[in-house]
Amino acid sequence: MILLPCPWCGPRDAEEFGYVGEMRARPHPVTTTMKEWRDYLYLRRNVAGWTTERWYHQMGCRRYLLVDRDTTTNEVRSAVSGPDRQKS
Ligand SMILES: [Zn+2]
Repeated sequence: MILLPCPWCGPRDAEEFGYVGEMRARPHPVTTTMKEWRDYLYLRRNVAGWTTERWYHQMGCRRYLLVDRDTTTNEVRSAVSGPDRQKS
């Protein structure tokens, strides 16, 4: 079981959340190449270790949060209010 510490609701089972994806900076739409844009849209790093992910608390406060999680152990070291959209 993964326990996510929602900043508004407190610790909750990850079943209450929707996994949005890993946080990555969005390339600039004017200056990026087609390859960079394709990589951003379709490729994932699939990190084995610490990564920053975006989750949505769909069965709670209905807010987005950023979670630092170790994908090998599911240890969570921080969860903070996240942006409603991907970084650009
Ligand atoms: Zn919440």
